[in-house]
Amino acid sequence: MNSIWELETFYRKREVIIIGAGFTGLWTAISIKEKYPEKSILIIERNSVPLGASMRNAGFACFGSLTEVIADAEKMGWDKTLQLVKMRFEGLKKIQSYFKNPEIDFELNGGYEILNNEGPLQKLDEVNQKLKIITGVEKTYFLHQQKITEFGLGKSEFLIENPLEGSLHSGKLLQQLLKKCYELKIEFLFGTEVESVAEGPNEIEVQLARDTSICCQQIIHCTNAFAPKFLEKEEIIPARGQIILTEPIENLKLKGTFHYDEGFYYFRNLGNRILLGGGRNQDFKTEETTAFETTVFLQNHLENFLKEVILPNQNIEIYLRWSGIMAMGSEKTPIVKQISDRQFCAVRLSGMGVALAPKIGEMVAEMI
Ligand SMILES: Cc1cc2nc3c(=O)[nH]c(=O)nc-3n(C[C@H](O)[C@H](O)[C@H](O)COP(=O)(O)OP(=O)(O)OC[C@H]3O[C@@H](n4cnc5c(N)ncnc54)[C@H](O)[C@@H]3O)c2cc1C
Repeated sequence: MNSIWELETFYRKREVIIIGAGFTGLWTAISIKEKYPEKSILIIERNSVPLGASMRNAGFACFGSLTEVIADAEKMGWDKTLQLVKMRFEGLKKIQSYFKNPEIDFELNGGYEILNNEGPLQKLDEVNQKLKIITGVEKTYFLHQQKITEFGLGKSEFLIENPLEGSLHSGKLLQQLLKKCYELKIEFLFGTEVESVAEGPNEIEVQLARDTSICCQQIIHCTNAFAPKFLEKEEIIPARGQIILTEPIENLKLKGTFHYDEGFYYFRNLGNRILLGGGRNQDFKTEETTAFETTVFLQNHLENFLKEVILPNQNIEIYLRWSGIMAMGSEKTPIVKQISDRQFCAVRLSGMGVALAPKIGEMVAEMI
């Protein structure tokens, strides 16, 4: 049993409980608190630091490469695609308005996409025309062949540049968001898993481990790939992403964030190292998992990609390997909605949640 001290403090009733302290949970809490300063908000996170995608990603501050935008428009139509691109673009602006660049190591070094066939180039003008209303520039994407040699890229026929994209430090962004939450008097329970949720007519009881529960008025599920535990009906497919980070490389020429093969491969410089991730499309089924592991097959595949495409003819040592878990669906649109009288969800952020989460927070604040 809990003591009166616990029940009247840490486990007291709150107005809003958010499950999950990744980017979505934190931005959602901030948006709600800014709209309703009087609401008490508790974020419950099962790990000692958020463990899912937010601190396991590549730190791209991006809103969509040319081929991704084309592929999305073919799949979901232009309206939905442009809506998503707009959210991401505005999300990145919001991050920059909340935090100074050095606080989150934000660098506007440009986003690039490597193409090995001419097809997408034929749609360049059309896509630029459509994105103009969002980005405010005539040419969001343009061909920049000279940089292929400048960056020392191998096996690359065409290079498309998007000067509006950059990179950041995901760990530092998360810490800044936590700082903001503490300033707003948002409370946390870390290392605490939500086991179950029982919704009654007047309140919800959130069951934690060890005979402990907390009541609240409303719950927001921000658990991304882990959401199926509570949201069985939604289409949420876990998608593991594996990453390698090299040792420092002398005279590294490459600077910026890079996409290849509709975003299935992504790499960037992190100081004078290369961070490379992806290749999920080589082994889709194995990577449909929430297990935080790396596989020999994909790690070798990434190392080969590094040697063939990014740093041809160089012997590079790997410093770190890790994986993170994304949430995908048949479409890239996130699921942000009310699921019952007192429950809401903001999940399935796919591969560009850094930029999406700030705007999703605003959507939830409008909804509750
Ligand atoms: C390898 C990889 C690379 C990526 N690269 C980029 C990139 O460069 N740029 C970009 O924009 N996006 C990238 N993404 C995607 C982006 O990181 C995600 O879209 C975003 O972080 C999702 O945030 P989230 O808060 O919704 O989910 P998460 O960060 O996964 O947070 C969910 C949290 O919920 C907690 N939780 C789950 N269940 C429970 C429970 N029962 N009780 C309590 N807590 C619980 C988890 O512990 C976790 O901390 C990448 C993702 C991966 C995996």
